[in-house]
Parts: sequence; C-alpha cells; structure tokens
Amino acid sequence: MSAVRRVGGELWMEGVRLSEVASRFGTPCYAYSRAAIESAWQAFDRALAGTEHLVCYAVKANSNLAVLGILARLGSGFDIVSGGELARVLAAGGRADRVIFSGVGKGEDEIRAALMAGIRCFNVESEPELERLDAIARALGVRAPVSLRVNPDVDARTHPYISTGLKGNKFGIAHDRALAAYGLAASLPNLEVTGIDCHIGSQILDMAPLEEALERVLELAAAVAARGIPLRHVDLGGGLGIRYREEEEALDIGRWCATVAARLAGTGYSLVLEPGRAIVGNAGVLLSRVEYLKLDKGKRFAIVDASMSELIRPALYEAWHEISPLATLDRPEAAYDVVGPVCESSDVLGTDRRLAIAPGDGIAILSAGAYGMVMSSNYNSRPRPAEVVIDGDRAVQVRARETIDSLFAGETTLD
Ligand SMILES: *Cc1c(COP(=O)(O)O)cnc(C)c1O
Repeated sequence: MSAVRRVGGELWMEGVRLSEVASRFGTPCYAYSRAAIESAWQAFDRALAGTEHLVCYAVKANSNLAVLGILARLGSGFDIVSGGELARVLAAGGRADRVIFSGVGKGEDEIRAALMAGIRCFNVESEPELERLDAIARALGVRAPVSLRVNPDVDARTHPYISTGLKGNKFGIAHDRALAAYGLAASLPNLEVTGIDCHIGSQILDMAPLEEALERVLELAAAVAARGIPLRHVDLGGGLGIRYREEEEALDIGRWCATVAARLAGTGYSLVLEPGRAIVGNAGVLLSRVEYLKLDKGKRFAIVDASMSELIRPALYEAWHEISPLATLDRPEAAYDVVGPVCESSDVLGTDRRLAIAPGDGIAILSAGAYGMVMSSNYNSRPRPAEVVIDGDRAVQVRARETIDSLFAGETTLD
C-alpha cells in the first residue's frame, strides 16, 4: 500500500528510519522514495513493452525537480498543464519532444513557450483554443501537433470534484461536437492533427468506466479517420486509482495496460498514458509531530504540526490517509481526530483514529506523494515544508523549508 514498512517498531522508507528524517529536516516535511517512484513508472512501461507507447507522468501530481529528474532518467514523458510545469520539466532534464500539454485555459505565452520548446503534442480542449494555437504557430512559422481531448460522457464513479468525463464538465470537447472540431482542426493550416485523448477523472478504482471511455474514443477515432483525418496516437489520460486504505483495492495497472494493449493491437495507433497519482501517490509520506492532546466534551483531538496548508486532500475531498506513529512506543491508546493548527474547522487530517501517541511523538501521514505538496499553500502564513528524497540509505533534501521572511519578500507597505 505504501513505500513504508515497520521494522522493530520503527517506520522505515527504503534504508532510512523516518524518525531520523523528521529530526534531521524538521516537521512538517515530505519524504519520497526514489525506488517506489521508479518501480511504479516501470510497472507501466513493462506492461506495455509490446506496444508502441509513451508513459507521460502527469506533473501536477508532484512537480518537485528531483521527482521529475528521477523519471526523466528513466525516459519518461511528461503531461503538463502550464508553462510553469514545462519550465520545471526542462530544468529537470526532461525532453521537450516527450511533453504533452493538457489543460482548458492555455495562455498565449504558455503556447508560445511550448511551441518554441518543440513539445510532442497539444491536447486541445476547445475550438477557440484551436484557433489561438493556429495563429501563434503561424506567427512562429511552425506547425503545432494537436490531439483533441474529447469528453466521452462516462461516469468515472469517483469523487465529483475529481470526475472530469461527464457532460456539463468544463473539460474536453463534447462527444457530439468532436467530429466538427476535428474538421476545424484539419482545416487550419498551421496545425497537424496527430491524435485523440481523454481523461475521465482521478482515483478511479473500477476498470469498467475506463474501458467504456476507451471504446468511445476508438469509435470516434474511426469516425474521424472516415472523414479523411487519420490519427496516429490514442491518449487515454491518467486517473488510475491507488490504495489509500487497506480495505481498498488499487486499480491493477498490469491488467489495465494489458487490456489497452490487446485492444490497440493491429489498429496501428501508438498509445499515450498520463498517470500521476499511480506513480507518486504511495511513494510519499508527510511527516509531522504531535503538539498537544486535547480533550473536548468526550472528543479527543491530536493537534499536530501538519495541516490542511500542507495536505488539503482530507479537507477538500474528505480523502482518507492512513496515519501512523513513527515509532511504536508505550503510550495509552485512544481514538483521536488528528487536526492541524490552521484556523478552519475543516483542518482535519483524519478522524477517529486509534493511536498510541503523546506530545512530541512523530507521526507519518501515508500515501501523501500525490496532490500533497503541489496543493500546499501559505494559508495562516505557514512556510511550506521541506521535501526529502530517500534513495537507498541516503536522505537528500530536495527542497528547503520556506523561511518566514520569504513569505512576504514580494510585499510592501504603503508610504
Ligand atoms: C490530472 C490529470 C492527469 C493525472 O491524473 P491522475 O489521477 O493523477 O493519474 C492526467 N491527465 C490529465 C489531463 C489530468 O488533468
């Protein structure tokens, strides 16, 4: 379920004790396992060995340069949603010709930067975006490779905030407008239509909606080809769900890849996938320390030094993360709501957890490698935490904790 294991009462990540990471780098602090990131990416790459493919890691899940660099060295592609993410990928040694640019609101500067870098494909989400892309490509004297993100109108059966493939959602081009949009794309002289893509949501645990989306996309691709616009690749997005709690069953990556590979065999399409969470989610933990134990009207709170500012998923999606002490110590066990110091009632990391803890003890919030640090904020003027990569028996700080001064470095008072 996670890149950590308990040995002799202590929580370890690879060859490093997490209590040592917490003492050395302070808390709150994110720690990621290099081996776990690599093996998750390789699970995709290996399962697709017989199919022409590119695994494009979705940068928004965790965009630390060290994480991107680890994946770039494996030959990964990258799915980006902004000019900022493009700059990160290039700074980390990622190849521009393996970059896919997704997102509904690509700005002119972002499009220009991506065209000048020579990215592999723009996943276009609307007709006006096609026109903007054509105009900028013309001005630069290049042709822009495009895929249309279609909305297959299937229910991913996941949380509504992370479901993106239903009608009425802002993402993608409606299924019934897709053919006309392909006609427009093919008519614009500075675009080169290369593929089709979809992405129906995130943390999907059930393969049926993914298969349904695959069929709808292939049907559309055939209809597009019948209009004289042959496509070269099919991009099925990301969204593959991981296991956050024991009762859950992760989506089987090997099975999904085998299903897709079998379905694409003989079609001539190459395959692009855009997994984010499935690569980094279980590779990371958020380390924290207990500040106070507080008893209130029969409810017990463990107030810890991590909060919704560092990990917003529980507050935003009621997401469940396992919480575990860094060391098994002789403490009275009780059920706690684990909460942070932030001034919001939603600042909860976990409710009703049986924990044997005392003030000062270290804890780990597990499966925090995806949509953790990237969604952090400075709310309540909290400096963002340090990030550490565990590589064998080394612990390397890959982002320094923010300083208080840096929080208002760009601000001024009036005369
Ligand atoms: C967010 C996103 C992904 C990655 O989703 P995961 O659930 O992290 O795998 C892939 N493609 C697109 C277009 C996205 O918006």
